Amino acid sequence: MRIVLLGAPGSGKGTQSQRLVERLGIPQISTGDLLRAAVKAATSLGLKARAVMEAGQLVSDEIVLAMLEERLEQPDAVAGFILDGYPRNVAQCEALEALLARLGQPLEVAIKLDVPSELIVERIAGRAAAQGRKDDTPETVRERLRVYAEQTEPVAGYFAAEGKLRIVDGVGELAEVSRRILDALPTPRAVRASA
Ligand code: AMP
Repeated sequence: MRIVLLGAPGSGKGTQSQRLVERLGIPQISTGDLLRAAVKAATSLGLKARAVMEAGQLVSDEIVLAMLEERLEQPDAVAGFILDGYPRNVAQCEALEALLARLGQPLEVAIKLDVPSELIVERIAGRAAAQGRKDDTPETVRERLRVYAEQTEPVAGYFAAEGKLRIVDGVGELAEVSRRILDALPTPRAVRASA
């Protein structure tokens, strides 16, 4: 199963991706995690990405695509994957489609977690307190939400046009939201029928 999980910062897509890993036995691939690892390891790429991330803006499409490509070529991604935090703009949608076509692993479904913006702000404030992420300061969060509205919202439309978008209500208990996501996944039979 090859899944993209979409949703605003704080919509719960990271948490839900981790839960899906357990249910589906496929890896979560988070470009934010890959970037944070590069920053921590102080690689040249990480050094370039750091200031951009701390400003709440998007790291360049080339850097993120190169990291993603390397990750998708790992053996564990052959069985499928849950992409979390990618694509973040329409250019990345096109790059992803080309990359997956080259790997012979087309995307099956894009799930968008729908959460009202009042709740998003509350959740991010809670996460900032719990995890101490450097990019969870009020100023950076505002910029991330602005970038999301401007560049990432259109991503849902891209997948809708391909008939791959499912919108899932992201408000509720963790387990309940996970259940809704699992229900929104195409069944293996439907995937074959539409292939
Ligand atoms: P996330 O953990 O998904 O919230 O990502 C944290 C930060 O990493 C974002 O605010 C961006 O600066 C950067 N980032 C993560 N994924 C991408 C992406 N697909 N394209 C560009 N920048 C990204």
